[in-house]
Order: sequence, then C-alpha cells, then structure tokens
Amino acid sequence: MKIGIDLGGTTMSAGIVDENNRIIDRNQIDTNSSESPEKLIQRMANLVNELIEKADIKNITHIGIGCPGMLDRQNGIVLYSNNIGWENIHLIDAMKKYFHIPVYLENDANCAALGEYIAGAGKKYSSMVMVTLGTGIGGGIIIDDTLYRGKNGNSSILGHLMMADNGELCTCGRKGCWEAYGSVSALIRMANEKADEYPDSELEKQRKSSGRLDGRNIFDAIHNGDKAANEVFVKYISNVAQGIVDIVNILDPEGIVIGGGISKQGEFILEPIRKIVKENIYCKSMELPKITASGLGNNAGIIGAACLDHFV
Ligand SMILES: [Zn+2]
Repeated sequence: MKIGIDLGGTTMSAGIVDENNRIIDRNQIDTNSSESPEKLIQRMANLVNELIEKADIKNITHIGIGCPGMLDRQNGIVLYSNNIGWENIHLIDAMKKYFHIPVYLENDANCAALGEYIAGAGKKYSSMVMVTLGTGIGGGIIIDDTLYRGKNGNSSILGHLMMADNGELCTCGRKGCWEAYGSVSALIRMANEKADEYPDSELEKQRKSSGRLDGRNIFDAIHNGDKAANEVFVKYISNVAQGIVDIVNILDPEGIVIGGGISKQGEFILEPIRKIVKENIYCKSMELPKITASGLGNNAGIIGAACLDHFV
C-alpha cells in the first residue's frame, strides 16, 4: 500500500493506493494557502494519518506528492509555487518529521500523466502525452515508458507553446501562448466577448442568471444549440486542436490524453479535435495517435504520485 497526495492551489487530496494501482480510500481538504507552510504541511500529514487510521493499514511503503510549480525534485524542495504561494519549502524533509518512510516529490501535471499512463486512458501506450485543460494548460510526457523530465525537471510546459505572435497576454507574461487560447480561462474569455456581442444569445442569458460564465454553463448553451455559443465552441476547439497538432508533429506519441473538467464532454469535443488534428498534422498519411479523455479524472494525480517510486 502507498499514499498519493495531489497538492493543488484550492484543494489537497490524498489517497491510499493498492498494489493494483487502485484508490481504496481518499479524502480531501481545502489547501488554504494563506496559512504558513508549516501549518499546511501539518494538515497534509494529518490528512494522511486519518486515512491510514480509518483504513487500519500498517504496511504503507512510501508517500508521493504532486505539487504545482518549480521543484528541486532530488532534494525535495518546492523552489517556487505560484498556486500555493511557496518559495524554497523543504517539503520532503518536513513530511519526514511525520512519516519515517520514503517521500517522493514531482510536478502535479507529471503525476497526472503518470496516473493515466499507469492506470487510466494511457495504460496501453508506451508513449503518451497528457494535456490538462483547466485554468491553464498543463502537460506531461511519457516517452518509451519513462516520464520525460528534461535536464532540470522543467520540461513539458506545453501550455506555453506559441500560438499567435503578439497575441493574447498569457499569465506567464508572454503574448500569444496556447494557454491563452486553449485553457478553460480562454474559453470563458471568448464566451464573455461573444455574450457582449450578442445580447439576445443564451450565453448572455446564462451569464445574467448565473452571475458569470463558467465551463459548465457555456457548454449548456452550446448543447442547447445557441448560435453564439456554437461560434465560441468551434473557435475554441480549433485552438485546442492546433496545439495538439504541434505536440503530435514533435513527438508522434501513441496516445494523447485530454484531462480537466471539460474532458467529461467526451466524444462531443474529441471528435472535432481528431478531425482538425488529422487535417493539420505534417505527415498526413500517418496513423493518428489515439486522442481520448482522461480515464481517472481527479484521481490521476493521486495515483501517479503514489507510483513515483517507479519513476525516481
Ligand atoms: Zn505563456
């Protein structure tokens, strides 16, 4: 038995994972990053201890933690994490004060990719790329059954591929990144612009009744056949697909796994994405990678973190 922790900016979740890489129990709490790192780590340890006690398990072999931001993985240090507001936090050392077993640290997007590769939509593939569409676009790359990390462990920053020269301002400070066109935040921005343009649209009605547009009510308007929402959908899907074209051109993986809340739309988004990728990849005659939705949803990060002992 092993423990996987997915430390996010809003919630942190932990799960006990068995030898078949299934979660047997999980729990989550608010991250509450305004607290001191010591306090937050203490609550993380409590979360794990509660799970272990509840399941009455004694043979926990190790703990894996997925964390957003820049890491010094070998030394277990979170160098900088914008989402949690951490700088130079010795996370592994701090956790080892509570647990006398090995603790592993890895980027959260890499953990999600590992989870899908080990137990989810990517488990048939030896090379796959996970693309998570959320507030930003996260990515993880598995090549020849190995997590690709690059020299400093900072590879796979897929969201910041260049999509338009001098385009939309990205959160990274650069203009025109894929994330500024293909993330859910971008979808919401585009839908708001469209709602301004078409005051009689369902998009505008959804915005008025809900107070704001989000992924859910935008897709409601799309499914209800709203013309303005459909225009947003067509453009957004094209934005997502064009980034995937670049990934396929560079890596030619066996599978692309799309994660994040909107991956629940399944074939409704996958079918048009596949069509655009097929039409735009460089080697038109080659077999397309399988483009599928995440099989594990929010659990991918926990399972991937729990399996970090295999990817040291
Ligand atoms: Zn960027």
